[in-house]
Amino acid sequence: MQVALIAIYICVFLIPSVVVDILQYRHIALALTQRPVILPRADYIQAGKYALQKLKISISQHFFNALLFAFWILYGLCLVNDFIENYHLPRGKNLNCVAMILAFILISQILSIPFKYYTEMILDKRYGFSKQSNQTFVIDLLKGLGMTIVLGGAVLYLLVYTIYFFEYWWFYGALLSFVVIVLVNFLYPTWIAPLFNTFTPLKDENLQARIEGLLVSVGFKSSGIFIMDASKRDGRLNAYFGGFGKNKRVVLFDTLLDKVSSDGLIAILGHELGHFKYKDLLINLLVSGIFLFAVFFVIGQLPQSFFDELEIKKNAGNLLILLILLAPVISFWFLPVIGFFSRKAEYRADEFGSSLASKQALAEALIRLVNENKSFPSSHPAYIFFYYTHPPLLQRLKALDYEF
Ligand SMILES: [Zn+2]
Repeated sequence: MQVALIAIYICVFLIPSVVVDILQYRHIALALTQRPVILPRADYIQAGKYALQKLKISISQHFFNALLFAFWILYGLCLVNDFIENYHLPRGKNLNCVAMILAFILISQILSIPFKYYTEMILDKRYGFSKQSNQTFVIDLLKGLGMTIVLGGAVLYLLVYTIYFFEYWWFYGALLSFVVIVLVNFLYPTWIAPLFNTFTPLKDENLQARIEGLLVSVGFKSSGIFIMDASKRDGRLNAYFGGFGKNKRVVLFDTLLDKVSSDGLIAILGHELGHFKYKDLLINLLVSGIFLFAVFFVIGQLPQSFFDELEIKKNAGNLLILLILLAPVISFWFLPVIGFFSRKAEYRADEFGSSLASKQALAEALIRLVNENKSFPSSHPAYIFFYYTHPPLLQRLKALDYEF
């Protein structure tokens, strides 16, 4: 059974994801030998080289994750099970399960730190994105681990309880997880994001008046327009709306304010408002809900013999660990569905955003974003199919009738 599981992981997940990365690598390497499009030559080459480096990391991470998967299936699960059982740590069936899952998550996260460190502290620094000091990196890491233990622990306790309480636990477990996701989305802008960044209300009165006019015109109620100090970590630009109902916030990265004209900013915000107008966030949430139910359903069908062969008990802890181990395999084949609808929604939002400013303003702002973020303007169709939630810049510009 162990060998079969690892073989499935390799065939269904490792090989296809590495192949897609290699196709993308060859596509970009080839594009780099041709005439640059959209970006100036130096930026084009730099964006391409950055993308190639990231793909190399991604490919090695796929292999590392496969090794980690094999480790958990062959030895790790039994080790964690034995450890918690033998030492009766902590007391009580539910807490035992929670401790087991947390141990599994923390060990996996800690083993992946080198990849995170290399990407954020070495590669992103070399390309001038990251301004993070070692200290911020460590503090963020500790905050993240702390949140995993406290919030993750609380959610896991509820999940474990659900599994023991209901016969159709997979249904209620998925429902509970869905509620947690909705709640996190709701609380993120006001409770979670401020743990990592500082938010200050927008001071530019001119811009504020324009943005508020925009919000009123589409009936968007918010608790304010905020500037986030993104520049302390990263030079990349962004803007988003977070939260639901009156809890919504408009958040602009300070990096965006410096780099984009106010017309461009209105066009980008207009694009985001387009998502709001067409309820794209809700649709996204619903689709991720369907994914959750699918994953819980699959895990819910695993028979007792499956656990016997892995030499572990069929308890809530092991069920949830298997769920976390297998979720990426299932999501790899599910993401293209989300991507397909998401890319359609992006065109619609672009159209709406450009109607609030102008096609020209949005096109120029998008080029600015891509240039500053050093995203490579073209991609292999297979890579777009599997990973892209946004259409590549070239196609977005074409849809905006932009001449280049
Ligand atoms: Zn969008």
